[in-house]
Amino acid sequence: MTITSAPPAALERGLVADGVQLIGGEWVPSVTGRTLDVINPANRERLASVPQSSAADVDAAVQAAERAFPAWRDLAATVRAGLLFRWADLIEQHAADLDQLESQEVGRPHWGPSAMPGQVRFIAGQADKVQGVSLPTYSPDTLGFTLREPYGVVGAIIPWNAPGPMFVTEVGAAIAAGNTIVMKPAEDAPLTPLALARLALEAGIPAGVVNVVTGYGSEAGAALPAHPGIRRMGFTGSPFTGSLVMRACAENLIPLHLELGGKSPQVVFPDADLDAAVPAMVAGITLNTGQICAAGSRVVVLRSVHDELVERLAAQMQKVTVGPWHEKVAMGPLINEKQHTRVLDYIAIGREAGATVVTGGGVPSGGGFGDGFFVEPTLFDGVAPDMRIAQEEIFGPVLSVIAVDDEQEAVEVGNGTDYGLVASVWTSDVGTAIRMSRALKAGQVGVNNALGARVIGGPFGGYKSSGFGRTMGADSVLEWTQVKTVSLRPATPAI
Ligand code: NAD
Repeated sequence: MTITSAPPAALERGLVADGVQLIGGEWVPSVTGRTLDVINPANRERLASVPQSSAADVDAAVQAAERAFPAWRDLAATVRAGLLFRWADLIEQHAADLDQLESQEVGRPHWGPSAMPGQVRFIAGQADKVQGVSLPTYSPDTLGFTLREPYGVVGAIIPWNAPGPMFVTEVGAAIAAGNTIVMKPAEDAPLTPLALARLALEAGIPAGVVNVVTGYGSEAGAALPAHPGIRRMGFTGSPFTGSLVMRACAENLIPLHLELGGKSPQVVFPDADLDAAVPAMVAGITLNTGQICAAGSRVVVLRSVHDELVERLAAQMQKVTVGPWHEKVAMGPLINEKQHTRVLDYIAIGREAGATVVTGGGVPSGGGFGDGFFVEPTLFDGVAPDMRIAQEEIFGPVLSVIAVDDEQEAVEVGNGTDYGLVASVWTSDVGTAIRMSRALKAGQVGVNNALGARVIGGPFGGYKSSGFGRTMGADSVLEWTQVKTVSLRPATPAI
């Protein structure tokens, strides 16, 4: 197989331009003129370059956002909503180019119709529903109520695994609430965010409301929560970096939400419909090459159904086709060399710990595979709950099977990691489903569903070290507001 690379159509059609980022409505290079290359992980070819920004660029973006804030805050919420709806329409019109762009920079094959227009419309619908409450007062000549107000200039940092959906989630909710924002996308996948920002501008969202500063995390990323002009942060990424961002927010005394990693259990009971469960479970660990925070990476199975399940999972995994984004395959490469090494190291760690590789465990060979960061879908059996492959987030297509004796042990093992992002329960018994939904410590539980609850407007976020705060739900817009209590009395009270 030869992996050829066409330049992104979005680049040819001007949806993204080489070497520039968006500050105050202008497409500008970094202050130093430095750039970094964005590569196609299927063949390591350069797709485009983006500015390699530093604190000076972040400062320029914060200043632009400060200038844009008063007018954006004071715009009628219905007008803000209308602009977001127009943004959603443009995203829909350019869905094919955006999908191709994201596929190329992330390395994932087409994964079905874009969720982004729906996500933005859902958030747009919340913009004019940000409400306070009326409050009882001590005397009849006084009115008391609360206002929900935007913070001002806010910041967000996102990872590379789903740059489009994550960009619209954070930017959409923050600006719907009346904030202006500076976004730092990941260095591996900044092109889709830049294209989405261009469409926001084209939709009529005023200059300076959405600013995108590209570059490395240690440079541009670190400068964002440390900037004194930033009033609130949203961070999505690894727990390690989340902790650094939280420290910077503590120095600045600003709030944040953290969307971190996961080690999500898929608990399988003997009464599960395996015909439905197995393909969904395998998709839940191979979609986006397992590089999804919600990936169901641990199978916790009741012993009586263990052997049948492992046999079926292995057969299903062997059907997963692997290749570059433009082939009709189910799974692409990992994002970069570091991630490739990390996943292969974890496979070695699992073997050394005594777990059995049932299928996969290596890199696909031959043809053009050698140039890309490919790895085989891998199934481990005989995994003990305390092994590193059962405890640590691998962020790759590696599934670990842990056998348990009863429901109580399933709960203990299911909850037995530092993480708590999502969980799945596979059963046909409603009582089991209800008990498990309550017992599992996770921000979302999908019963007979992989990758979370997957409902419209379902709040998304973690328990324990998976983070705090919720995105995607109606409340996500409220998270970007602060509450003010107001009382009104006549200048000369009658009472
Ligand atoms: P990462 O933490 O390395 O990077 C995330 C972002 O932080 C990038 O934009 C990066 O440039 C930036 N960054 C790096 N160092 C920084 C610093 N010192 N200060 C400020 N910013 C910095 O994570 P990653 O490897 O890109 O992404 C994978 C992780 O993201 C996984 O742990 C995954 O589970 C998590 N994730 C979570 C969710 C969720 O919603 N909970 C969604 C997707 C990914």
